[in-house]
Amino acid sequence: MADKIILKRMSFYGYHGALPEENKIGQRFIVDVELDTDLYAAGVSDNLERTVDYAEVYNLVGKIVEGPACVLIEAVAERISERLLKTFPQAASCRIRVTKPDPPIAGHYESVGVEIERKRSMAYLGLGSNISDREDFLKKALIALSEINSVRLDRCSSIYETDPYGPVGQDKFLNMAVQIETLLPPQALLEEIQRIEKSLMRKREIHWGPRTIDLDILLFNQCRINTEKLSLPHPEIPRRAFVLKPLSEIAPHVIVPGMNRSVIELWQSLNAEEGVRLWKKNNGEGRFGLFEN
Ligand code: AMP
Repeated sequence: MADKIILKRMSFYGYHGALPEENKIGQRFIVDVELDTDLYAAGVSDNLERTVDYAEVYNLVGKIVEGPACVLIEAVAERISERLLKTFPQAASCRIRVTKPDPPIAGHYESVGVEIERKRSMAYLGLGSNISDREDFLKKALIALSEINSVRLDRCSSIYETDPYGPVGQDKFLNMAVQIETLLPPQALLEEIQRIEKSLMRKREIHWGPRTIDLDILLFNQCRINTEKLSLPHPEIPRRAFVLKPLSEIAPHVIVPGMNRSVIELWQSLNAEEGVRLWKKNNGEGRFGLFEN
């Protein structure tokens, strides 16, 4: 989609900067905003209600630039993009440019500035627990996920009970999968889920060993990443029934990038139904459609 709303060279007075005089005397900031959003309905209806109101964008940006001071204009741009994408759900992504036309630094140049591009992403996470009150750990993890500032929990699978995987003798797991929408990049999402694991007392003592809660990013858009800390799609997806069964309930036709096969195709070809039993069905009601019944 190439439609966009553009607000150019909005001008505000603010106190952002790393130098004391910037915080004290302040300076002018110029902001450009591009919001990628489908303008067809507004175009054919000629109705202001069907589009993004420029005045609202201007006021929202102004409040941030003229509000509490940040050290970096990177932080100003980040705040603007986050607020815009939260306020205007019809915008799929945005580009923000923040410029200081007269920064108090020596040298000859026209201006200094930053430009960022941020978009909504859809991700699927796998959850598992096999210590003490397993359902309660899943529930606590879901609440913690939904409390992350830039994460919206969209769908939950049913809960499945699965036989433990690997050589370590341990109790059965409860597993499930969820779909989220997030403004975070994948690495930041990983840090957030690791923070949740820590807060729920996950101990990394034995590989494949028992765990209060295990959170994995299974899919992040159609991203393929292979770094020391993060592999996407999660490499275990095609091999693990406890991942594929709940995932195929909420994302059957999503293609696993790199394999060019859908989740349901991978599940059907795994042929490992025995190890995974429905434990609590998602009845579609309540906040997460799961823990209310
Ligand atoms: P686990 O014991 O299964 O939770 O594995 C955790 C480790 O896997 C962490 O050190 C992560 O950095 C790494 N990792 C790699 N890719 C992923 C992913 N897609 N989701 C979660 N952890 C990942």
